[in-house]
Order: sequence, then structure tokens, then C-alpha cells
Amino acid sequence: MTDPYRVIVVEDDPDVAFYIKTILTKQGCIVQTFTDPSFAQQAMRLYEPDVVITDIEMPGITGIELIEKVRAVRPGTPVIVMTAHVSVDYAVDALRANADEFLTKPISSSDLIAVVARLAEEFRSAKSSMPDPEVVLAIGAHPDDVEIGAGGILLTHRAAGDSVHILTLSRGGRGGHVSDRQSEAFVAAEMLGARLHLEDLPDTEISENEPTVGIIEKVVADIRPTVVYVHSDHDMHQDHRAVHKAALLATRNVRSVSCYQSASATVDFRPNRFVNIDGWLEQKIELVQAHRSQVQVSRYHAPEFLAATARYWARFGEGTACEPLEIVRDSGDLSSGATDVSQALRAQRNARARQLPQ
Ligand SMILES: [Zn+2]
Repeated sequence: MTDPYRVIVVEDDPDVAFYIKTILTKQGCIVQTFTDPSFAQQAMRLYEPDVVITDIEMPGITGIELIEKVRAVRPGTPVIVMTAHVSVDYAVDALRANADEFLTKPISSSDLIAVVARLAEEFRSAKSSMPDPEVVLAIGAHPDDVEIGAGGILLTHRAAGDSVHILTLSRGGRGGHVSDRQSEAFVAAEMLGARLHLEDLPDTEISENEPTVGIIEKVVADIRPTVVYVHSDHDMHQDHRAVHKAALLATRNVRSVSCYQSASATVDFRPNRFVNIDGWLEQKIELVQAHRSQVQVSRYHAPEFLAATARYWARFGEGTACEPLEIVRDSGDLSSGATDVSQALRAQRNARARQLPQ
């Protein structure tokens, strides 16, 4: 017997939700129903469904917006949209947002069963042919560090279907009101489709030993990351250096560990991998700008500063925007588009040699 299909139903009408649940449960599916669409993202993480069924319009959110939220958590998840009215406008909009199937109310049970089985099978076979997703952990001392240093890289991980966790060790009390910075951190994580682990170490007094090492070790034990990004040791901010040292100890068994460039990195920051983030720069800027309390007080949050930095590092990589990394350890393949600095330099030298007169 195959693993039963897992289905999430998001429908504000409890009668309809119950009807669908009854039909699918009889077929052996595991069905979770939600009448409040605001639980949808949490439910996606918890139940990892094969199929999502949603109403086209619910209080506070359209089915179309819901599709985007659902896929931000689990890219490629099939979504069936139910509609009471056969409205051409709705259908066109929803198709644009990539609904996989429409069912018109009243829902026929045989149609429902057939569509769920087909989409769930397709999704499972597509997933089984893909490489295992990475579990990514990005570690920062303060809210916004990770977005500034590796926001584009994290977006490319999400697009590849990897799960992304952010561990932020302090709530940044020195840089603004803790409550503002905390809610900004959650907004940015949600935009990214990442899970935020927010700790409460004293801002500007983070230790490189305990309790920092223990906190990071606990998250590593819980989520078992395969890829870690953290501050560089080449940084003026003592919290950043402390988090770097603590993280290196706590992630000693992780396959791939590398350091991003923080706003306070020194000229000794010497990257040897340049990850192309073409197509993600706008969204990275939005992530950084989500830290609204910092936008006023820090020049590092300015869109042109972020864009110019990414443009600059692209001289060593590919495309027009890159984020630089210092590789600490990499015992496997990392993100696509990455270029080793020695390769880039070799290519430059070869190009120059070709231009020399014979
Ligand atoms: Zn910081």
C-alpha cells in the first residue's frame, strides 16, 4: 500500500470543508481542513501536503494570493481552486497564478477524487526525480545581518525548493526598539519563506563561547542543516566576530559552511566564491528594506548601496549581480552559478595574455 496522500483544504465554509474531507478520507487520504487562511503557511510546513484545495475567495485573502503563499513554503505544490461562480475573470487570474485545476461547486465527488489522485501522483514523481533539497541555516548576530549579507543567495535556495532557516542571536536593542526590530525580522523571514529562530542575547555583548555556542548547537541538532552561512571573522563589529567563532565550533559537522559580507566587513574580507543573484536583487532589496527602523539610520540599507555592492562583486563572478562568500568548508556542490576566485583570476590573466603583442 502506498503512502496515503496528504491534503490540506482551506475553505471558509465549514460545510464544504467537511464534505471534501469526508470524500477524501474515505479514499484513504489524510486531510487537514482550515477555515482561516492565515494558518495556511504554518500548515504547509507542518503537514507537507501533496495537494492543497482552496476556495477562490475567502475573507481577507483571495485563492490566488493563497497559491503564492503556499508555494513560497513548498514550491511546486499542486493547488486545486474551487469556485462557485464560473467567472471568466477569476479563471484567467487564477490560471496566471498557476492553479493546477479548477472544480466548480457543487463539487462532484468522482471529479474530486480523480483530480487529487492525479495531481498528488504527478507531484510525488516530480519530487522523487529531483535532488534532495538542502536545509539551509543562515546565522546572524542582529536582525537584518543575514538579509544584507546573503539575502539573494537565500532567495535562490528558496526558488530551488530548499528549506531556509534564519538564526538571529540578538534582537538588536542598541540599533532600535526591540519590539520593532523583532517584528521586522519576522516580516522579512516570511517574505523569504524562511523560518526564523530569534534568540535574545545582549546586543553588543555577544560571547564567542557559551551560551552562544550552545544555542547554535541546539538549532543545528534540531534542523540538521546541510549548508550554513555566517558572519566573517574579518569584521569590525565584535558581535559579528563572536558569532562567527561560535558558529564555526557549533557547525563543525555541517557539510558546507561559508561566510557572507556584513555591512561592517573589513578590507580583509577575502571571498573566494561569487554567487550570481541576477533576477533576485530587487527582492533582496525589499527584504533589507523590511527592516524599516534601520532604513532611516543606516546607509547600508539604501537600495543603491546594495545594488552597487552586488554589481561590484559581479566583476569576479558571472552576470551583473553577485554575493561574495568566504568558503570555510565545502565537501560537496554548493549553489549554482558559483565561481571560484582562482578560476576568475586565471580567466582574466589568460584574456590579458591573448591581448599582448606577439
Ligand atoms: Zn549586525
